[in-house]
Amino acid sequence: MRATSYEGPYRIAVKDKPDPRIEHPQDAILRVTCAGICGSDLHLLHGRVPDTRIGSTFGHEIVGVVEEVGPEVTAVSRGDRLVVPFNISCGACYFCSRGLTACCENTNPSSDVACGVYGYSHTTGGYDGGQAEYVRVPFADVDPMKLPDGLSDLQAVPLADAYPTGYQGAEMCGLEGGETVVVFGAGPVGLYAMRSAWLLGAGRVIAVDKVGYRLDFARRWAGAEAIDFEDADVITAIKDLTDGRGADATIEAVGCEAAGSPMQRAIGVYVKGVAGSATALNWCFHATKKGGTVSVLGVFGPPMALVDFGTAMNKCQTIRTGQCSVKRYLPQLLEHVQAGRMPVEELITHRYPLEEASRAYHTFAQKEDGCVKAVLLPGT
Ligand code: NAD
Ligand code: ZN
Ligand code: ZN
Repeated sequence: MRATSYEGPYRIAVKDKPDPRIEHPQDAILRVTCAGICGSDLHLLHGRVPDTRIGSTFGHEIVGVVEEVGPEVTAVSRGDRLVVPFNISCGACYFCSRGLTACCENTNPSSDVACGVYGYSHTTGGYDGGQAEYVRVPFADVDPMKLPDGLSDLQAVPLADAYPTGYQGAEMCGLEGGETVVVFGAGPVGLYAMRSAWLLGAGRVIAVDKVGYRLDFARRWAGAEAIDFEDADVITAIKDLTDGRGADATIEAVGCEAAGSPMQRAIGVYVKGVAGSATALNWCFHATKKGGTVSVLGVFGPPMALVDFGTAMNKCQTIRTGQCSVKRYLPQLLEHVQAGRMPVEELITHRYPLEEASRAYHTFAQKEDGCVKAVLLPGT
């Protein structure tokens, strides 16, 4: 089959690889029809995730059709269309039985930190990803959701990751109604978080980014006020909008940035034009009011960023974070999509055949050509 192949920092290719096969009775093999590129893939591409091996297949936002199932699979069968959550979970362990599939103990047993994730380095189990013609889906009865007729691949693929993650970010703010929520990062995750914040009762949503067309998206698509952090002193601007106190809640949807010198990346400071690795997280502490909540969605890889934790401590803030346990959100979020309350597909501005993966990554990474979200369409 054809599949993406990591060739070292900043380089991705498409190569011939062996077809995946059933390795365990609970596996299924999926023919991939749509595979998203996530901001998390950029951390891999930029060499920020440990143990990302040359030749690995990326891709953890997967929609496809079941080609083959192992003898113990009962919930799905050949021909079913599925969306596959990015985390791989067993469904039965201590954490899975509490809905925390992102903390599964059985899919990456050599780590007590991360569960298995498709196409996300050997740090998360070394599973092959779905930016390929076919992918092996372990525990096929557990995570995947069958797609109803009428739901397109482009409506389904955000359900694998970006939309539930954004929703979780808003949910972790603990909104009761009328709060001001500031979202750092107007990428797909941040934009879904903004719209989810409205659904959960926010009274005001403010977006912070530096990419003009993404801030326009935040205004137009997510009804947010927008701050360009290259034009304004961001903390002052937020305080000015919130009676000097700061926001009730902030959402960090940026993660470790690739730009800047290794030193800048390590210390996390902002120097005009170049965000350090923890800039947005530190801004969250300063932009959140005393007693407020900071909700952290971004992925942070080593080297450790210098995080201004003392500010958060002194301001008595609640800090919540987590890899999204996608499965628990799917029924409810599917309903929002089907009812038209969350037109998830409108963020997918760019589609590419699998063979053009390198161009797709480049356009998404460089924030070119108005790209908000890019997907690969194997088989086209
Ligand atoms: P993206 O790269 O498309 O978007 C990030 C945005 O942040 C960009 O528009 C960028 O211009 C902006 N930005 C950079 N520095 C900033 C700063 N200092 N302040 C404000 N904005 C800044 O990525 P995405 O797909 O939207 O993902 C966002 C983050 O969420 C990534 O770190 C990704 O790894 C993470 N993520 C986490 C989970 C989870 O389960 N918690 C799931 C998916 C993605
Ligand atoms: Zn992701
Ligand atoms: Zn488990």
